[in-house]
Amino acid sequence: MDFPKAAAFLDGIWDAEIIPALTDYIRIPNKSPAFDADWEQHGHMEKVVQMFAAWAKSKLAQFPGASLEVVRLPKRTPLIFVEIPGATGNPERSGGVVSDSVVRRATVLMYGHLDKQPEMLGWTDGLGPWQPVLKDDKLYGRGGADDGYALFASLAALLALKEQGAARARTVIVIEACEESGSPDLPFYIDHLSPRIGTPDLVVCLDSGCGNYDQLWLTTSLRGNLIGSLTVRVLTEGVHSGAASGIVPSSFRILRALLSRIEDQATGRMTLPELFVEIPPDRQKQAKDAAAILGDEVWSGMPFAGSTKPMADGNAELILEKTWRPQLAVTAIDGYPLPANGGNVLLPYSTAKLSLRLPPILEAETARAAMKTALEAAPPYDAQVVFDVPRGDNGWNAPTLAPWLEASLNKASQTAFGKPVAFQGEGGSIPFMAMLGEKFPGTQFVVTGVLGPHSNAHGPNEFLHIPFAKKLSACIAQVLADHAAR
Ligand SMILES: [Zn+2]
Repeated sequence: MDFPKAAAFLDGIWDAEIIPALTDYIRIPNKSPAFDADWEQHGHMEKVVQMFAAWAKSKLAQFPGASLEVVRLPKRTPLIFVEIPGATGNPERSGGVVSDSVVRRATVLMYGHLDKQPEMLGWTDGLGPWQPVLKDDKLYGRGGADDGYALFASLAALLALKEQGAARARTVIVIEACEESGSPDLPFYIDHLSPRIGTPDLVVCLDSGCGNYDQLWLTTSLRGNLIGSLTVRVLTEGVHSGAASGIVPSSFRILRALLSRIEDQATGRMTLPELFVEIPPDRQKQAKDAAAILGDEVWSGMPFAGSTKPMADGNAELILEKTWRPQLAVTAIDGYPLPANGGNVLLPYSTAKLSLRLPPILEAETARAAMKTALEAAPPYDAQVVFDVPRGDNGWNAPTLAPWLEASLNKASQTAFGKPVAFQGEGGSIPFMAMLGEKFPGTQFVVTGVLGPHSNAHGPNEFLHIPFAKKLSACIAQVLADHAAR
């Protein structure tokens, strides 16, 4: 593949088509079903599906035999499924070597999602979740970077190969619409589409992060996730605190005590041994290497308030805390009025929504059972305590990188950025990678993305770093070319 030519092509299509399309996409509040129970009536999801499918279809005419289907299983979010046959291309323009067998037999699976996180508070004046703003080479708004761009970048990489007659393997693109809800619909679609997907020997996922915007970053692991609601109930109705305090124990205090059963309140370290794994030596080394590249950028990009400091000393240690150790976040509280409406009342109950990130190779079910036992056993004052946690999602640890792929990623990063590819685990979760890893143990994975410093997916001021996204697209084209030519 002629890299500068592909990069120029991608630069053009990003400016002329992808940025305008993502600008329209940001305006649509197509929140994931977990955040919009009436998503079907609201019709935002359908609008996005139609818009994405129309753009993709307009490009597929260039690939003989290609097809797109919006697959709809009953009572589930829709899924866009694209199939593009392989092509041997022009051997001279593909670097001379084209392996016919790879092009005919292999399948690349490219993945992304089109549903979004909810609004979240704290957007800077002039910015907003459904208000696209292009400023300083960044496109602000919800969902552009997580993960609306994935379909466009995936197809654009294939178009770049097509434009210069480079070989490519058969490719299927899967764009789901419930990732931000934990992908509950996806396993049904993967079963349903299994004969058409085949056995992918390469998966490309553009829903992950990057340590900086200066080189290509490969995600080597993802944490699992356990989400549940812990409720402590002490009264059947609220009572004047002058009458009840001193007699009725506070549900907040009991909640606090229960949380201390699972987490050291001084250090934030989880205390249940069942939540930890032995961190593999190669991942410990990668954390050190990533810390050497990033230095204090490991933590300095966080919008710390005042003089707030990180939780641990040492940048490699912080990376391991974020990627390989369990961590708790309390993400919502119920049972309380807003401060302006808070009277002197001893409240009947406290509910805390707990989001527990799990080490990549821990069985989520093990964590679920351990948490439920620790939180519900022998409650203080025999209060009514329930930890409602329907399921957990396993994390993912990448298989060892094949030599051809490592070489390809490095070449791509060097050519696009002038720096080698870098490796890091991610603290977030992509349930589909765990599913694929279990189903296809021999498959190679390129999990990467544009979620770098300050890009703030899920939070306020989310942005897509456009120059980086263009270079990333070119790197993906290079990997697809090398995959077909190996
Ligand atoms: Zn995402």
